[in-house]
Amino acid sequence: MRFVDPLKALADAERKPYWLDSPAKPEPQPRLFGNTTADLAVVGGGFSGLWTALMAKERDPSLDVVLLEGRRIGWAASGRNGGFAMATLTHGIANGLERWPEEVATLERLGLANLDEIGETVARYDIDCGYERTGELNVATEPWQLEEMRESVQIAHELGIRFDVLDADQIRAEVNSPTYIGGFWERDGCAMVDPARLAWGLRQACLSVGVRIYERTPVRNIKDTQASMDLLTPHGTVRAARVALGTGVFQPLLRRLKHFLVPVYDYALMTEPLSAEQLASVGWHNRQGVGDSANQFHYYRLTADNRILWGGYDAVYYNGGKIKPEYEQRDETFVKLAGHFATTFPQLSELRFTHRWGGVIDTCSRFSAFYGQSHGGRLAYAVGYTGMGVGATRFGANVMLDLLNGEPTERTELRMVKEKPLPFPPEPVRSAGIQMTRWSIAQADLHQGRRNLWLRTLDRMGLGFDS
Ligand SMILES: Cc1cc2nc3c(=O)[nH]c(=O)nc-3n(C[C@H](O)[C@H](O)[C@H](O)COP(=O)(O)OP(=O)(O)OC[C@H]3O[C@@H](n4cnc5c(N)ncnc54)[C@H](O)[C@@H]3O)c2cc1C
Repeated sequence: MRFVDPLKALADAERKPYWLDSPAKPEPQPRLFGNTTADLAVVGGGFSGLWTALMAKERDPSLDVVLLEGRRIGWAASGRNGGFAMATLTHGIANGLERWPEEVATLERLGLANLDEIGETVARYDIDCGYERTGELNVATEPWQLEEMRESVQIAHELGIRFDVLDADQIRAEVNSPTYIGGFWERDGCAMVDPARLAWGLRQACLSVGVRIYERTPVRNIKDTQASMDLLTPHGTVRAARVALGTGVFQPLLRRLKHFLVPVYDYALMTEPLSAEQLASVGWHNRQGVGDSANQFHYYRLTADNRILWGGYDAVYYNGGKIKPEYEQRDETFVKLAGHFATTFPQLSELRFTHRWGGVIDTCSRFSAFYGQSHGGRLAYAVGYTGMGVGATRFGANVMLDLLNGEPTERTELRMVKEKPLPFPPEPVRSAGIQMTRWSIAQADLHQGRRNLWLRTLDRMGLGFDS
């Protein structure tokens, strides 16, 4: 095998998110100057806010909807992620079963319907985002991972969900890596998208149904006048009857949310396009998303022009929990990722990376979004997607609209929707606890998945840390 130098493979990689570095990026919508009114004001122009604004208009075209984005539509997690639009609403079936066993069948059904509806919306508005419902290959590289997979496969079979079990030869016939020893193909549970183009396409869909979008318009505060809610921005105010928050991990406008969210950085690389020969050496005819199964996992996929996006593994919490532009670059992680790529695909030793970037994830202790209301039911929020929000934000948007309508629905009656996660402890205990958890997770991967006392205690308390 040839020795691959990760530094050489990374030498020309630009330090910016691949998806956002595109000629398809639209010109910004105007800033808000002056005062205006709205029936519904949506804060945040990621998937969460975009789906909320679009579906509010679809539910009631007469509603006056305004969307306020502090920077640019899709600039944050929504435009820089892996592009795995997952059906799961619970960060995987095992987490769902552990927390809401009596609801897991309903949650799986609602999640699959949500993903179907994303596909329908993409087709209806003719959104050019490379949507491919190819499913996800979950690959094992160590025997203990096969053991853990059996449980998920068993649950899926009982629920009638299609998880095809593949042995080492079968899985390598799909994607050829010498590191694979088996796995399963979750056929219906995942679609691949170009996330930035999806965000920009949803923006265009919003505009086409009459949503007014203001970019570079951060909401600094919400003042409740009882008669309305005033959203204060640097150069104007929106007086709104209802407010939906899709603000992700950023400084919450509702103070209580800060106890439940921590910013975790996730990193990714993009290769140059594979030649026909290079692609043939990997196979990958069915173009699935791929995830490996250690606690520190990689996710990877092909793009429309046959590059490989390769991300994950390190989930970094910077002590103090700040969000800073400089945290979006982490050479230590990029070198590690490039090395792992070379181990997985030794036949691609000539391949170079063109982009390297990071992004921040709204992590909560139950790994899946939580929902709620304030201001007498006139404000709703959905946050905490913990690295799996490409699909689930649309479900969360529907929950926010249901809550604001005030009529119970199948969604709002779910225990998953009614319950909140456990809060994280305050700093500095928070940083110490998270770093201890990260260390323990890495140790578990080194020792056949065995969880130490710390992790077992957290498991028992229903507390966790993930990306
Ligand atoms: C590197 C990486 C890889 C990922 N891979 C995947 C994946 O493959 N599959 C998956 O399902 N998930 C993935 N995720 C997670 C996924 O991207 C997120 O869960 C999802 O995009 C969250 O969308 P959002 O709209 O809630 O948040 P964001 O995309 O963060 O959007 C929030 C928006 O709100 C705006 N905002 C915040 N506060 C204010 C304010 N006061 N006023 C105005 N605007 C405000 C922000 O500027 C931002 O644009 C990944 C994330 C990262 C970082």
